[in-house]
Amino acid sequence: MNSNEIDIHKELKKYFGFGQFKGLQEQVIKSLLNKQNTFVIMPTGGGKSLCYQLPALVQEGTAIVVSPLIALMKNQVDAIRGLSSENGIAHVLNSSLTKTEITQVKKDITSGLTKLLYVAPESLTKEENVNFLKTVKISFVAIDEAHCISEWGHDFRPEYRNLKHIIKQLGDLPIIGLTATATPKVQEDILKNLDMCDATTFKASFNRPNLYYEVRTKTKNVESDIIRFIKQHKGKSGIIYCLSRKKVEAIAHVLQVNGISAVPYHAGLDAKTRARHQDMFLMEDVDVVVATIAFGMGIDKPDVRFVIHHDIPKSLESYYQETGRAGRDGGEGHCLAYYSYKDVEKLEKFMSGKPVAEQEIGFALLQEVVAYAETSMSRRKFLLHYFGEEFDSETGEGGDMDDNVRNPKVKIEAQDQVVK
Ligand code: ADP
Ligand code: MG
Repeated sequence: MNSNEIDIHKELKKYFGFGQFKGLQEQVIKSLLNKQNTFVIMPTGGGKSLCYQLPALVQEGTAIVVSPLIALMKNQVDAIRGLSSENGIAHVLNSSLTKTEITQVKKDITSGLTKLLYVAPESLTKEENVNFLKTVKISFVAIDEAHCISEWGHDFRPEYRNLKHIIKQLGDLPIIGLTATATPKVQEDILKNLDMCDATTFKASFNRPNLYYEVRTKTKNVESDIIRFIKQHKGKSGIIYCLSRKKVEAIAHVLQVNGISAVPYHAGLDAKTRARHQDMFLMEDVDVVVATIAFGMGIDKPDVRFVIHHDIPKSLESYYQETGRAGRDGGEGHCLAYYSYKDVEKLEKFMSGKPVAEQEIGFALLQEVVAYAETSMSRRKFLLHYFGEEFDSETGEGGDMDDNVRNPKVKIEAQDQVVK
């Protein structure tokens, strides 16, 4: 079957209830249905999942979806099952399943019922799974969060490196790689490591015109500054990112003492507490979540109004991802980062214990963050340039939405002249 025989608009309505494709979805889906290797770069919230879900649902066989996080997979499977009366239409295959569950999953795949099989990369490496998958009809392989394959991405996972080898064993299958990480280096790594340099690439713009970018110098008054900021945004939802668990706890406490409803979130809290705090934020029982970067993946709260970085992020990539959680609904989203060179040195020291190759990458990424924090040019232009995108802050959408454009810094030399 190819794209000419399938009315994908009809299928979109039937399965997802949407009247229109978003952005590049239609072109991507056609490319995949035509059995071409396809590479999709779209910002978070751009609608990447549908690019492989729809082709999976309308084709014969099972699509394998590789995804790094069990929690993300579970969410997606539940959502897909909501689209159909058949439970087995989407399955997860991972180490948490019982023997009985595995038998059921395999039965549903063999019978052709299962259209989407979500797997973690480590499950796909297991020989018995590979041997089983060799015996059934696979429609294509989707690699979600494909930047995990690159050391230059913000979430490197070594297991992603084995994928190419395993996919080859399953036959000559079309591959679709998807990511929200757009730096040219990461893109190149993905295409090379998945052996799909022939892929048709679809890249959406990374501009988020409704986000306002601001950097403030971090002083010892940073906490009262944050409190003032939050009080100016009373009743609004926001995230505060800190580097360490200790800092998360400390800031959450300071906010609470100052009458702001806030909860901490970090990997040191037990799973139950984490889930509870996340739910409290989603349900708006609290306004603010103070978190390490452990918080946010897969969080789809549309009306986050501010994202504050108490400490600078490790890379501009991370910064873009973390600030991207603001203003998903298209409304206001204030992205405020506190910057001090001391923090940079702290991060560098932190990295110095790591292997040399990792250190070099870490330092290089960090230098970009420093350059962003210290620049006097349009921050949006700077960020988009980092992602290989041209932006003109005079004419581009959201061009005046940052501190540098709104209040241009007066150069030191110029100031000298004024004084004279
Ligand atoms: P990504 O993986 O790119 O971050 P998702 O696949 O999670 O994005 O989709 C983000 C949101 O966009 C979801 O809530 C999804 O339902 C919605 N969405 C996707 N495609 C469409 C469409 N064609 N029309 C309307 N909403 C869509
Ligand atoms: Mg996604």
